[in-house]
Amino acid sequence: MSDENMVEQRVVVVTGAGTGIGRATARAFAAEGARVLAVGRRPEPLAEAAAAYPEAIEPLVADVTGPDAPEAVVGAALARFGRLDVLVNNAGVTGGGGAVGGYTRAGVEAQLSTNLVAPVLLGQAALPALERSRGVIVNVSTAVGQRGWPSNAVYAAGKAALETVTRSWAVELAPRGVRVVAVAPGAIETPIGEHAGLSPEQRAGVRAWQLEHTPLGRIGRPEEVAWAITRLASPQASFVTGVVLSVDGGALVG
Ligand code: NAD
Repeated sequence: MSDENMVEQRVVVVTGAGTGIGRATARAFAAEGARVLAVGRRPEPLAEAAAAYPEAIEPLVADVTGPDAPEAVVGAALARFGRLDVLVNNAGVTGGGGAVGGYTRAGVEAQLSTNLVAPVLLGQAALPALERSRGVIVNVSTAVGQRGWPSNAVYAAGKAALETVTRSWAVELAPRGVRVVAVAPGAIETPIGEHAGLSPEQRAGVRAWQLEHTPLGRIGRPEEVAWAITRLASPQASFVTGVVLSVDGGALVG
């Protein structure tokens, strides 16, 4: 079987697939010929994401922080497609209290529950299936996971921890044939600020700070992150593990 045929037959789970980077990623995998389980909380955005490739993208309404979510998501992928090759832990939220002084226990815990606990438990649940397929976990971090983000420390901290999980699992799971990688997007044009409840003025403030810290001088597109995710997950990336690939217009090094 050629590498090309292997790509066509792969099964991918993408969390947070209704909007933004997750939607672009689900579509990019579908365009490669993969079958995709698109996971998210709201049916309408998922249906929109799937509409571009109705044969390839199957929506699954699920909250990744739910107590039964890891087993339910993996079980759905196996029930519908019979295998699992790639898990993209993309669902994420920002906000969570903002600056020091604004934190609440509920806000901090909610953010870490989505951005750190859910990917860890979903990765664990997916492991037996990924071992069988010699599969890949792709975690979606952020450029500020390695440099900090004033007024959004808990977001940066949760993503930094996810990068540490990525490196640790890469070593731990290498003998079991599973690769673990991450992408760290910079400023990308998605509704994440709206989803965090930021006002237009607050979103403009965030954008100004991001542009100031982005050497390429523009906001990125979700498809530019999806490209990196699909490349790292491809069979041709078979010797790549433990890496965190910046897709940030130079933000990390700028
Ligand atoms: P987005 O808000 O459009 O996408 C996140 C998706 O995850 C949404 O569809 C949301 O509904 C979903 N989601 C959130 N909580 C969930 C839960 N508990 N269960 C299921 N789905 C859930 O924003 P995005 O920018 O596309 O974000 C995707 C990822 O990229 C996130 O992990 C985010 O932290 C990361 N990221 C984004 C940027 C950026 O500038 N947009 C930069 C760096 C990193």
